[in-house]
Amino acid sequence: MKVHEYQAKELFARYGIPVPKGKLVTQVQEVEDAVNELGLPVVIKAQIHAGGRGKAGGVKLAKTLDEAREITRKMLGKPLVTHQTGGQGTIVRKVLVEEAAAIKKEFYVGMVIDRAKRCPVMMVSPAGGMEIEELAKEKPELIFKEPIDPFLGLLPFQCRSLAFKLGVDIKTGGKLLAALYKLFISLDCSLAEINPLILTEDGRLLAIDAKLNFDDSALFRHPDVKEMLDPDELDPLEYEASKYNLNYVRLDGNVGIMVNGAGLAMATMDVIKLAGADPANFLDVGGSANAEMIAQGFKIILSDPNVKLIFINIFGGILRCDVLAQGVIEAAKQVDIPVPILVRLEGTNVEQGREMLAKSGLNFVVGKDLSDAARKIVDILG
Ligand code: GDP
Ligand code: MN
Repeated sequence: MKVHEYQAKELFARYGIPVPKGKLVTQVQEVEDAVNELGLPVVIKAQIHAGGRGKAGGVKLAKTLDEAREITRKMLGKPLVTHQTGGQGTIVRKVLVEEAAAIKKEFYVGMVIDRAKRCPVMMVSPAGGMEIEELAKEKPELIFKEPIDPFLGLLPFQCRSLAFKLGVDIKTGGKLLAALYKLFISLDCSLAEINPLILTEDGRLLAIDAKLNFDDSALFRHPDVKEMLDPDELDPLEYEASKYNLNYVRLDGNVGIMVNGAGLAMATMDVIKLAGADPANFLDVGGSANAEMIAQGFKIILSDPNVKLIFINIFGGILRCDVLAQGVIEAAKQVDIPVPILVRLEGTNVEQGREMLAKSGLNFVVGKDLSDAARKIVDILG
């Protein structure tokens, strides 16, 4: 899960990482209060889940209240296109108004889990302000890394060494890095980035940008972080699916699929591709799906306007075929089904499931096996 910069900075402050004073603004009228509280000049920063805002006009300096209002007016409600958003951009619904910092020097600080080394790694670079990907390509010798033993944690000598390589005050710099490590581990982050960390003209270290990603599987341990989820930043159908614990990913084809088991879902997508069509989604309803979850998943597939055919491919092991049939029939009662449904069922209670579908009065096409189903996909889509 990702959070906005202003939320990451709230967490930074909680763990003792210095951040500029700021106020979140969602309407132009609120700018005046923010400016009165913070003083001028201020920096206005678009809050979207994407980086590269600076170059795209999503980070602007305002020297007067009028300027601050004008910049905010131009940002709010409009899409911001950065190299991370895709061509349509992301609508800016909030801006962070912050006291502007006088920058003497910019640094990079980041933490990720290194899969090859199987441990967290802290990375720093005195060449701040650049994206780490660019930096890795152009000046890899300026990136310094410390792998961290998960049992020992980030040790004091590692903090000092990293601070030394950054060229910042060892004591305050080391303390800041230790605080970032504590935050990363305590909150089960998958990524933490301060780009840039700055040295101000008056000699303070300050995190003027903040990025945090969290491990979804650990969110149950951090209800306050989970609450920071901004549904506006998610695909609406994926968000809906997450409420029912459905493993759903939207794709751009026209065959909606409902499958149990990630492996079968991948195989089903291959079959669809072989038939010359493209899947509209990945949906693994899992082994423990009940009729309610099936019904919700079915409705989610149907609300994707690209879907021209639904292919239900279930191998009933733990999820029984009759439960699947019940869910589909329930969903069909609640919503219109304007597209053909192709079903291939095998496994536990398959006879019962097939009979329920046959008696439902709904119009199903039955695939006897996978290759038969593939032929029928071709027939139906023409
Ligand atoms: P990003 O482009 O989305 O990563 O957004 P950042 O928050 O990193 O801002 C981009 C750039 O704007 C930074 O690298 C700084 O150079 C500049 N910037 C941001 N805040 C301030 C500030 O308070 N004062 C000054 N002088 N520059 C700032
Ligand atoms: Mn940045």
